[in-house]
Amino acid sequence: MSPKVIIAGGGIGGMAAALALHRAGVDVTVFERAPAFTEVGAGMSLWPNATHVLQSLGVLDHVIARGETVTQFNLQRPDGTTISTIPMDGFSTPSLCIHRADLHEVLRRSLHSIRLEANQTVQSYRQSGGGVTAKFASGLEAWADGLIGADGINSAIRSQIHGTTSPIYRGYCIWRGIAPDTGMTVRGHISETWGAGKRFGIMPMGQGRICWYATRNGPPSQPDGPRGRKSEIQELFQDWHQPIPELIAATKPADIIKSDARDRKPLRQWGEGCVTLLGDAAHPITPNVGQGACMAIEDAACLAKLLPGAKDVATAFRAYEGMRRTRTAFVARQARRIGAIGQWENPWIVKARDCITRLVLSRSPDVQLNAVYAYKI
Ligand SMILES: Cc1cc2nc3c(=O)[nH]c(=O)nc-3n(C[C@H](O)[C@H](O)[C@H](O)COP(=O)(O)OP(=O)(O)OC[C@H]3O[C@@H](n4cnc5c(N)ncnc54)[C@H](O)[C@@H]3O)c2cc1C
Repeated sequence: MSPKVIIAGGGIGGMAAALALHRAGVDVTVFERAPAFTEVGAGMSLWPNATHVLQSLGVLDHVIARGETVTQFNLQRPDGTTISTIPMDGFSTPSLCIHRADLHEVLRRSLHSIRLEANQTVQSYRQSGGGVTAKFASGLEAWADGLIGADGINSAIRSQIHGTTSPIYRGYCIWRGIAPDTGMTVRGHISETWGAGKRFGIMPMGQGRICWYATRNGPPSQPDGPRGRKSEIQELFQDWHQPIPELIAATKPADIIKSDARDRKPLRQWGEGCVTLLGDAAHPITPNVGQGACMAIEDAACLAKLLPGAKDVATAFRAYEGMRRTRTAFVARQARRIGAIGQWENPWIVKARDCITRLVLSRSPDVQLNAVYAYKI
């Protein structure tokens, strides 16, 4: 008989896991805290390590149709000069930029025969007799052979196993915005511009939209400046190369989201018994290599490979954690390191950084890239 599994959290990780497990013959139910199954209004990148999984799940064509294929990455200075250019079209599956809600919708539509329960906040669980009962704020209790905590960076499931601790703030905030595409960028080209203590990234994401992000060093949880969020970003990047000022100017204030760059130290053990973690609940990653959701998608594929043939759910979950720990810790470390270097402030160190980065990327871009992006689960 196929195992019955509860997934707590219907974000990109939870939905990818539901799809992968369903396709592998597992009986899945997803419980989501929010009143509806949807995603925040921001763009994201999906790299070949994740599009490879989406292809194997049969949804890649739908994802490609909703997003924009990436063919080149340009690293630039604030005056517009190039530090490095990296072709991104040499992988067996494409790199993409897409609106998060579009990716989420493609996953959700593929799950029409699965129970998706909104408005259900998981609070805790109790293990007994080879199974697990998840308890919800509504008073509902649901039993299954296994429970997957895919409930994000402040996961309740993770807190029950490992105690409640705050994520680690990495010293900078990130704004994300969406502007209409008025021909300001080259299709398929994404870019990041490195300044001193701040960065700006541009990602055309199809359907007439351009997603951008900006960072700045500072203390955590900073409120918006007195003249508002958009004006603050405009002042920070007003003398940077086009189309940066143009893109910010074309963005509606309501389309700008702000968050802090946060992650956590890698866990030695993720779950216990027939409970495990997936995505940000297990291994939140700073956004610098665009891999947080990609790692959750890889997690989903790994679980779906191991669970159906396993002796029992607990054995499958420990094997999954064993396979994923090193990989996710490596990618999180890379992201943290690139973020720290990109946020350097001293003008002399910044000049040296740009020269060294140019040299390193011109000699061995494939080695740097392949370790993260060409991985196949
Ligand atoms: C600025 C920024 C840019 C990023 N850009 C990229 C990118 O380009 N590419 C990329 O791959 N990744 C990117 N990421 C990372 C990516 O967003 C996350 O890694 C990814 O969303 C994790 O998915 P998840 O499903 O594990 O968690 P989440 O997306 O956090 O989803 C968790 C879900 O669980 C629900 N939930 C929470 N608590 C409960 C509860 N108690 N009970 C029930 N449900 C609950 C939430 O409502 C949510 O729907 C970025 C992150 C940031 C902050």
